[in-house]
Amino acid sequence: MKLILLGPPGAGKGTQAQQLAKNRNLIQLSTGEMLRAAVKAGSEIGLKAKALMDKGELVSDDVVVGIIAERIEKPDCKNGFILDGFPRTLQQAAALDTMLASKGDRMDAVIELKVDYNRLVERIVGRYACANCGEGYHDRFKRPKVRGVCDVCGSTDFTRRADDNAETVTTRMMAYYRETSPLIGYYFCKGNLHAVDGMAPIEEVAVAIADILAKLP
Ligand code: ADP
Ligand code: AMP
Repeated sequence: MKLILLGPPGAGKGTQAQQLAKNRNLIQLSTGEMLRAAVKAGSEIGLKAKALMDKGELVSDDVVVGIIAERIEKPDCKNGFILDGFPRTLQQAAALDTMLASKGDRMDAVIELKVDYNRLVERIVGRYACANCGEGYHDRFKRPKVRGVCDVCGSTDFTRRADDNAETVTTRMMAYYRETSPLIGYYFCKGNLHAVDGMAPIEEVAVAIADILAKLP
């Protein structure tokens, strides 16, 4: 199965992708995570991307399309994957279609997570993750069961993203509404768009997505 999770920053794409990947044996492909790894490694791509990411602007289409094109060819993607944070522009969406069409393939579904602007800001500024296994948490909405201890791996080390601050949020939202929201129309016209109420609690959103996937042909 090949899925796209579409929505603004903080909509819950990563949270749902993490669960889906675990439960359905799919690979989660987050271009944001891949770019952050490149920044950390100090690679050429990372050096190019860092300034844009710090400002909340999008990295160039060529760079992210190149990353995804290479990644989906890896054997672990054979069983399917979940794209989280890609595509983010019409050019990226068209490049993805071309990549898949060349193999007679297409995305099975695009799940749009709909969340109000004010809630997005609250989610972004309260977001953090386990520094060891990457499990995502939130100061209010998703706390570890034991305070300060990761539910998944037991680590006590957590990180916050450098771009999860009130200053970059507006730029990131503008990039979403200007560059990414046209993809809602793009996938609606292709007939594989499914909208979900992303304002609901995490488990309810997961159930809504599972219902959609159960009805796919
Ligand atoms: P995205 O990947 O779309 O940027 P995340 O999945 O990282 O968003 O979610 C942003 C923050 O909001 C995280 O801290 C996460 O724990 C929290 N979160 C995600 N989904 C929900 C939800 N349905 N209700 C409340 N908080 C949520
Ligand atoms: P995310 O983790 O999805 O919130 O992405 C963090 C940052 O990485 C974004 O603000 C962009 O600067 C960059 N980025 C991630 N995915 C893409 C993409 N598909 N296209 C362009 N830039 C991206």
